[in-house]
Parts: sequence; structure tokens; C-alpha cells
Amino acid sequence: MSQRRRPARERASAPAGRQGARAAGNAHAAAAPASLATLVQRWQRRHGRRGLPWIGERDPYRVWLSEVMLQQTQVATVLGYYRRFLARFPDVHALAAAPLAEVLALWSGLGYYSRARHLHRAAQQVVAAHGGRFPGSSAALARLPGIGRSTAAAIAAFCFGERAAILDGNVKRVLTRALGFEQDLAEAPAMRALWAAAEAQLPRRGIERYTQGLMDLGATVCLARQPLCAQCPLAARCVAHAQGRPHDYPVKTRRLVRGVRRNVMLWLEHRGRSWLVRRPERGVWAGLACLPLLDDEAALAAHTQGWPGRRTALPAFKHVLTHFDWMLQPVHWQWPARAPAPAPEALAPLGEGRWLSSAEALAAGLPAPVRRLLAGAARGTEATEATEATGATEATGATEADAAA
Ligand code: SF4
Repeated sequence: MSQRRRPARERASAPAGRQGARAAGNAHAAAAPASLATLVQRWQRRHGRRGLPWIGERDPYRVWLSEVMLQQTQVATVLGYYRRFLARFPDVHALAAAPLAEVLALWSGLGYYSRARHLHRAAQQVVAAHGGRFPGSSAALARLPGIGRSTAAAIAAFCFGERAAILDGNVKRVLTRALGFEQDLAEAPAMRALWAAAEAQLPRRGIERYTQGLMDLGATVCLARQPLCAQCPLAARCVAHAQGRPHDYPVKTRRLVRGVRRNVMLWLEHRGRSWLVRRPERGVWAGLACLPLLDDEAALAAHTQGWPGRRTALPAFKHVLTHFDWMLQPVHWQWPARAPAPAPEALAPLGEGRWLSSAEALAAGLPAPVRRLLAGAARGTEATEATEATGATEATGATEADAAA
């Protein structure tokens, strides 16, 4: 790289006298190893990601939206959602004025629905308390709903040039490896120390390129399973690479203990309409429209005792969430078309709900597996896919704000 060639060039033109002494001083300065930030900035200029709609963006609304969507979700998945969301809600005023149901519907399938609710609330707050202008500092941004320290820093760095450190999952990996940071990130003091270390690396100038460079390195080079150290600008000074054990970083002893949950999902249909209930305001799929979930077959039998119609068990599938695997057994109950639909009061034990046509249901905010099931029915087939199509797993309430605390 250029910083390695520079000393040789300086040696080739040997200085003399006072001027020479100054030149020698410069040569000495040039020979000093480039800082981590400089290496990242140089690399980003030549090798950073290009062509993503949010790269180079300086509008806080758009940066914020992309940062929130990219939490726990792959870039390829986010692209379509990002464009659709901006087409419908081009600015913070449009988002603040929209009904939450419409926001959730556009978010449907992206997972981590608490992000959409926070987004909506924060937009309303930006409009009500700040006249539609985003606060201009990371500290003030971090007081908005759902904006954690790292997201606030990213917005402030990109949009306001603030020298603020980001520390999302990818950047934690890059920095702990490069610095050989061996403290256990499950412990709060270790996280504080890592934040301090991240701040100590901040460049005096060019915070935007440095921030983008760290993100790009984490996403394309310092990969979790197969770090591409041979292509990394930090290889010569990376502690983990020198130790030959990048995979040992970051250190986190308290790993998530995953569980398994099982439920029966009742798809009650009558004349092309399905009975959908509203999920509770907290927990998985909070606030979304959903098919009723029952504990087991016995609960299903108790709820459907004496019901007319045809019952079909559909292929069971596993829905993967952050904290557990959800084994779901859909059961399709076709209520006879010639009979009147059961009254909402009769279905109340299944949860507060309503009858929706396929089109109405698909226009609402639905969890991804329910959407697939109903979309499959709308196309004349029944969905049997076993995993989340978005490539994302969903959180059970944890947000970046929690994680960064
Ligand atoms: S040298 Fe390897 S381990 Fe170190 S920061 Fe680069 S890619 Fe990551």
C-alpha cells in the first residue's frame, strides 16, 4: 500500500542542510505507521461498497431508515423494503402522519416489528417536538424511540459530521479483532471499555468515510466465519490476525440459550375470508394481524368442539427467531360456505379479531409465515416453506437500544 512505499521514495531523494533536516523530519513522520482510521479511510475510498442507495446519503431521515432496516437484516432483503418505504413515506412528515397499521403493513416480512413501531413513534416525536428537523447531535438523537447509541452516532456522523463512534455487531467484530480486545462483551464494564477504544480510534477529519469504511469492512472483509485477512487493510496491524485466531473475537461468554416453542396455528376460513386476530402489544409479532395460535391439539379440539366444516392439517414448519425455534402446525378449517359465518363473539376466545378477505389480509401487517400461507392460498396453493424468507431472524423484543445499553 502507499504508506509502505512512501519511506523508500523519501530515502531515494536524500535531503541536505536545513531543508534536508525538515525533509528528514517529514520522512520520519511519513514512516510512522498509519493509524487504523487512516487505513480504513484509504481502503474505503478505493474498495468500499458502491451502488447501495443509502451510501453517501446525508439526509437524516433516509440514513435513519436504512440504519434501522439494516439491524439484523441482510442488505439484499432491505433494498426492496427501503425503496417501497421511501416511495410511500418520502419524508418524516409523511411517516408521522401515517396510521401505524400502514407502516406495519409495509414492514411486513422484514421481521423485528418493534423497529417499525419505534420508527413511527420517533417520526411523530421529530415532527411534534422538532418541527420535522432531526436533532443535530448523537446525544439528542439517542433520546428518540428505538435509536440506540450506535445508530445515533451513525446518523450524526453521516449527516452532521459529528465525531461519534459506531459499534454495531459488525464493527464490534472488526475492532475487537484489530485491537485484540479480549474482554468479555457480556460484561457492562467491557462494553464501556470497547466504546472508549472505539472513540479513541476516531479520526480528526473524514468521519463520514471512516464510519462508512468500518461498516464496509465488517460487511465484506472481516466476516464472522471467514475473515478475508489477505484483503484487509488492517492485516499488518491486526492483533487477531497476528495471533492467527480471528475467530476468538469478539469474546462473549454469555451466549444466547435458544429454546423451542410449539403452537397450533388455526386458519379458519369462510367464503374466502379468514379470521385474523390481533397479537398482543408486547412480544413476538406484537400488534400484527395473525391467525389464532393455540397451545396444542387439545386446546384446538376444545375451541372447535362441535364446529361444522372440513379440517386439514397443513405441513408443519419451523420459524426461526432470535431466542427460540418456533414449531408451528397450521390447521386449515374450512367453515361450510352454505352456513353463516360464526359471529365474532363466538370466536372471541381465540382473541380479538375480524374476518378479512385475502386481499385485505395481505394489505395488513402480517408475520411472514402467515403472509406466505395466505398468499399461497390466494394463488391457489398452500405455503409449506420452513424458514423465514427474509433471511432475518426476529427478535423477541430486544432492540439495538437494549443491546447497546
Ligand atoms: S486482518 Fe482479518 S481479522 Fe483482522 S480486521 Fe482484517 S479481516 Fe478482520
